[in-house]
Amino acid sequence: MNRIALPDGSTVPALGQGTWKMGERGADRAAEARSLRLGLDLGLTLIDTAEMYADGGAEEVVATAVAGRRQEAFLVSKAYPQNASAARLPRACEASLKRLNTDFLDLYLLHWRGSVPLDETVEAMEKLVAQGKIRRWGVSNLDVEDLEELGEGLSSCATDQVLYNLEARGVEFDLLPYAARLKMPVMAYSPVGQGGALLRHATLKRIAARHGVSPAQIALAWTLRGPGVISIPKASSEAHLRENADVWKIVLTPEDLAELDSAFPPPKRKQSLAML
Ligand code: NDP
Repeated sequence: MNRIALPDGSTVPALGQGTWKMGERGADRAAEARSLRLGLDLGLTLIDTAEMYADGGAEEVVATAVAGRRQEAFLVSKAYPQNASAARLPRACEASLKRLNTDFLDLYLLHWRGSVPLDETVEAMEKLVAQGKIRRWGVSNLDVEDLEELGEGLSSCATDQVLYNLEARGVEFDLLPYAARLKMPVMAYSPVGQGGALLRHATLKRIAARHGVSPAQIALAWTLRGPGVISIPKASSEAHLRENADVWKIVLTPEDLAELDSAFPPPKRKQSLAML
């Protein structure tokens, strides 16, 4: 599997695992943890979660999944904007660590921008790094102008996690080139369009049939076609997980890419950052 370099020189697999909607039903938790563990077996060692998901329940599922295998995993969690202040971020981080049953996060993200000034959040994140609670920090759902406001902090921002899939290509106009100039990878969330209409699109189905793979695999391979993008599909079913871990064999041809561009046109002008 391709690996992507973070600004601090460490590398992560370009394909990870999302956890939104996990942990919501007690009865499903064991199966969800099993699927995350299978993902680890398949090399999908970057796991994205958040204090928001199932009110911490997703973090608890991740804890079960990585029990005894913490060193294999690259754990990403996210703090609510209202918890991103100097006073509250340490507490939010501690609570995430407790639910994840670990003593450090590999990456801690501001989930989206709220009313706490960004420089206060950056300072609080840097303190957590200094204390060894987190290895590095980043942001999510921040547009170019928000990133610019990070000022000097931008040089230690590990990633911006944003909505990116065939139906949501706005970031290609400015955010992706901007991040590329900074050598900061972008993390693509909802890369298979949450398993919805995107996967039933005729063009995607046609290209998938040509390659003998599924539409979801084409959608995923497309997010990974260039450098600097980490894609984090969420899959609870074993079949989906195995498909996703196998996208590396797919090489999209110039003809495939042209067909996808015509069905899902790239942005011609600045679009405000789409988010879920
Ligand atoms: P995804 O695009 O990853 O879609 C997940 C859905 O697609 C699930 O229903 C899953 O089904 C299905 N699916 C996965 N793989 C396949 C496949 N090969 N074939 C068919 N269906 C498939 O959407 P998410 O919104 O979950 O995004 C991924 C992750 O990104 C989240 O889980 C979360 O960690 C993160 N995220 C971050 C946000 C932010 O604001 N920072 C916002 C949204 C997401 P099943 O589970 O049944 O296998």
